[in-house]
Amino acid sequence: MTDRKQKLLEAMAVVGLGTHPQSLINGELVDGTGSEVQLVDPFTEEVLFTYADAGNALAANACDAARQAQTAWAKGISAAARGQVMQDIGRAVLEKVEPLATIEAIIAGKPIRDCRIEVTKVAEMFAYYAGWADKLHGEVIPVPSGHLNYTLREPLGVVFQITPWNAPIFTAGWQIAPAIATGNGVVIKPSELTPLTTVALVKIAESVGLPVGLVNVLCGLGPTSGQAAIAHSAVRKVVFVGSPETGKRVAVAAAEALKPVVLELGGKSANIVFEDANLEHACLGAQAAIFSGAGQSCVAGSRLLVHKSVHAELVGMLSKGMNNIKLGDPLDDATEVGPISNARQFAHVRDMVMNAKNAGASVLTRSDTKPQGYFVPPTILDGLSNTATAAQTEIFGPVVTAIPFEDEADAIALANATNFGLAGAVWTADVGRAHRMADAVRAGTFWINSYKAIHVSSPFGGSLNSGFGRSSGTDALMEYTSAKSVWLDSAPTPRIAFGYVS
Ligand code: NAD
Repeated sequence: MTDRKQKLLEAMAVVGLGTHPQSLINGELVDGTGSEVQLVDPFTEEVLFTYADAGNALAANACDAARQAQTAWAKGISAAARGQVMQDIGRAVLEKVEPLATIEAIIAGKPIRDCRIEVTKVAEMFAYYAGWADKLHGEVIPVPSGHLNYTLREPLGVVFQITPWNAPIFTAGWQIAPAIATGNGVVIKPSELTPLTTVALVKIAESVGLPVGLVNVLCGLGPTSGQAAIAHSAVRKVVFVGSPETGKRVAVAAAEALKPVVLELGGKSANIVFEDANLEHACLGAQAAIFSGAGQSCVAGSRLLVHKSVHAELVGMLSKGMNNIKLGDPLDDATEVGPISNARQFAHVRDMVMNAKNAGASVLTRSDTKPQGYFVPPTILDGLSNTATAAQTEIFGPVVTAIPFEDEADAIALANATNFGLAGAVWTADVGRAHRMADAVRAGTFWINSYKAIHVSSPFGGSLNSGFGRSSGTDALMEYTSAKSVWLDSAPTPRIAFGYVS
């Protein structure tokens, strides 16, 4: 066994996992019954595990377990007690930052320093929504004629969450925390390529009081385990985080069963730099926007729109800066950018760069190559128009398309000339222009002289091919609850209203 695998197994043991990926159902780690899935270390290309897809039977067990546990969680204890359990989960996660970050770094190929931050953010998510557990309430509506009308904000029941491989534990915490704070049961299916930290998160939560069965994790494939859970009668809503193509499949399956969906999909976000911007800051922002996480971020600033008068200068600065980025082993504390997370994505990113080159792009990239691992060096594609395939397709790698613009109107037109609507940013010294851009660019999140700032308290989501619905903040509380309208007639003798009250 390699040292790396040994290190992984030790970290897995510390967080309560077995020796291979297993689903977590009703508090038990169980093996699947479906086809084989391989987990590969993207840094060494070593096959770490081969495990069986959860399959339909486990999907049904997971949904049944969540349904069974949900009523007691929603109605059997006080909202404050739910919040207390969630506070405890947040604290317990903080005690396990190192093993969780180690697992994530090895399996997802993400630099360990980023993984540590993401695990810490998960703890914050539980603390944030713990506070909401006993503060969410209905309201009294001033209806006419002596009736009393009030609303109850109720959990939906069981929600099914599907998450991708680029930020596994972060996305799991992001969806599980608001769902359980509002009294729901959860079945979650992480990407089959990165399932371990999601199972570990729930194991840790159960060790400090989360009722077993309330949150169940399916380790397996989308077309089998995922589709089975969408169709299960216990599931009342599907929350999907992933690519637009899969999002459509999920939405169609949910529509067949008349279930609502939230879709958090991809992006092709515009990072817009005006000539009056502090170019050094804009360059650092552009670097973080597209190269951090090896560009495998839904909000990546993958289109760099630069005023024509500073385009060459900024591209030069960015190209110089990318040579200093430390590429390497995700387990190394000094590594800033790791490999692409999996072989399929690695092939996609490399194809996109090759096709852009064939389409006439001037490709600025680093000359260093790595002897092993799915490494794509930071890359700038210059000389393409906004209509080029590389400027319109989500690459999901450390590859930015730099495009010059003429003026403010042109910048807005280019920024919005995309089928996505997830995020965007502007760099300018003119505060009025900053607000005009924030108003005009179609995006669920927009940054001014900043990039990638997100927080659990702020809403997050997109439009068009970036999806619909919102995660995070109080918006997520609404997504995971529904309002029940209750009527009481205060008159001494009942007045039965066969229609509208007046
Ligand atoms: P993906 O769509 O391939 O997979 C996402 C999840 O869907 C996985 O768990 C997968 O197993 C599951 N799945 C696959 N086929 C399915 C099916 N037929 N039915 C049900 N589930 C199915 O996405 P990915 O490659 O894992 O992740 C990358 C994508 O995720 C990018 O497009 C990225 O922009 C997006 N993303 C979006 C956000 C956001 O909040 N908007 C955040 C992170 C990632």
